[in-house]
Amino acid sequence: MATCVFCRIVAGEIPASVVHQDEHTIAFMDIGSVNPGHMLVAVKAHVENVFGLDDLQAAAVMRTTARVARALKSSIAPDGVNLFQANGAAAEQTVFHFHVHVLPRRVGDGMKLVWPVKNPPREELEAAAARIRAAL
Ligand SMILES: [Zn+2]
Repeated sequence: MATCVFCRIVAGEIPASVVHQDEHTIAFMDIGSVNPGHMLVAVKAHVENVFGLDDLQAAAVMRTTARVARALKSSIAPDGVNLFQANGAAAEQTVFHFHVHVLPRRVGDGMKLVWPVKNPPREELEAAAARIRAAL
């Protein structure tokens, strides 16, 4: 897609600080970095979200994510690393081309996660698990 910013990065039409690329993936520095070393790992094909990935792309993106995370740890030595991935506007996806944030963290860096735990009863967990199993 010519108007997709990540497709344009893959095509070399706009600059990016590329860390790694292979047949299926590209990893580059996030221009909106939260902390130094913040990278994005994207599939090279225009795939909007996780639901469109084939198994080969899914495996490739996780392999690249783990690889650059290890390099981040050994080179920049963050206190921790978050992997973030969003699918759909309701999940706060803003660029609709599948990508994973590899986000180095520092103690006290101001990044906040809001995780409103609801602790559903076991029956509710089992019902959801059964529905998902049936869809596999
Ligand atoms: Zn794209």
